[in-house]
Amino acid sequence: MSVKVGLVSLGCAKNLIDSEIMIGHLAKAGMTMTPDASEADVVIVNTCSFIDASKHEALEAIYEMSDGKATARKKGQKLIVAGCMSQRYQGTIPTVEGAKGRIELPKVDAFIGLDQVTNIVPVIHKVMGGEAGMTEFLAKTTTFIPDFDTPRFRLTPKHSAYIKIAEGCNHPCTFCIIPRIRGRHRSRTVESVVKEARQLVAEGVKEINLISQDTTYFGMDRWTDARPNPRSKVDSTKGESLASLLRELDKIEGDFWIRLLYTHPAHWSDELIETIGQSQHVVRYVDIPLQHISDRMLGAMQRETDGAYIRDLIKRMRAGIPELVIRTTFIAGFPGETEEDFTELLGFLSETKFDRVGVFKYSKEEGTRGAKMEGHLSDEVKTERHGRAMLLLQKLSKERGERFVGKKLRVLVERPGVARSTGDAMEIDGVVQVPKKLLVGEFAEVTVTGASEYDLIAK
Ligand code: SF4
Repeated sequence: MSVKVGLVSLGCAKNLIDSEIMIGHLAKAGMTMTPDASEADVVIVNTCSFIDASKHEALEAIYEMSDGKATARKKGQKLIVAGCMSQRYQGTIPTVEGAKGRIELPKVDAFIGLDQVTNIVPVIHKVMGGEAGMTEFLAKTTTFIPDFDTPRFRLTPKHSAYIKIAEGCNHPCTFCIIPRIRGRHRSRTVESVVKEARQLVAEGVKEINLISQDTTYFGMDRWTDARPNPRSKVDSTKGESLASLLRELDKIEGDFWIRLLYTHPAHWSDELIETIGQSQHVVRYVDIPLQHISDRMLGAMQRETDGAYIRDLIKRMRAGIPELVIRTTFIAGFPGETEEDFTELLGFLSETKFDRVGVFKYSKEEGTRGAKMEGHLSDEVKTERHGRAMLLLQKLSKERGERFVGKKLRVLVERPGVARSTGDAMEIDGVVQVPKKLLVGEFAEVTVTGASEYDLIAK
């Protein structure tokens, strides 16, 4: 009888791809997936551990699944914990660091790390064979990166897919734990990514989302001259780069979009701007987390950029890529942030008028350099600043929406009555409400008739 597996996938799109790879391997081994945890022989919780809130969500899912096990939803059901949480706490498992000290995890049959997603089948065989509390599948540092032929079962809608072009991160951001969890940056080759994109387009995918921890660093980990000049026009002479990848992807025939997510501002070059500006397939949408604008804060966060560089980069991007939609994120309440720093950030938001902005309250993460810094702000101050930023953003977002009324847009229909324009990334941004008769998974031309705070209405 085939083993039935249930999977709970938490966190970001990068983790979702890891879930897709696990399911691809299960399917290849003849195992079946079930959406109903009560009938699964094995439940896998693929965790996220980026900030406290995601850790909390992961713990809740583990407890819920383990409770199900205890109440014998299915006799002998096994529980496997995968993803960032088991990778992050591998030295102390089965305890993890919570907001108020160590937490003992409930009984788990196996913890597996990020490099073990392709090993999920032998892990399941072992737990089904009675082995319990296994941690031997955890590797201290991660080096895995998928290839175009890595077995994978897509969990996204038929018309939209993610491609992980690189994994890991070499940046030193002081608020972030990711490099310690996901390891050093390693890129796939242009050839590998293009092969995967060709397959996806042939399968009918209409939108390819390129993701990694830092998409702009693609290829640069293999350069001998490791530190690129941000204003360089000659990226491609040093080796493969995001610009050279986009030029190759652009040669694929068909009607489809390419979307860039998670680009770090430090590695944007004029060549990349020019490439996007001239591309047929790359949409005029860029996700570029900026995190702050005050020089003091950018320095403390070690973002490898300063306010003048960021302001100039935004200007160059907007000049080189007409009608560019920019999504960005900022952190409010980083240690040492003064009222003056925060006011500078609010002023920057008002004057720059980004299309999509997320502002997050600083989360103190153990193991990061930020956690050990002087000048942590009280939760009241962080909440108050976050609230002020959100109020301003709501106002700016409404004004932006109204500017679209009367304009024609090309949209990709996501589900009946709901579509996304080039300015709306899947699961991240707003949507365009469209007539229900438009075909799901196809492009359509619509005219905007109204706007709410985050969404547009079109006919
Ligand atoms: S670029 Fe900075 S914030 Fe992003 S994953 Fe790397 S260290 Fe974390």
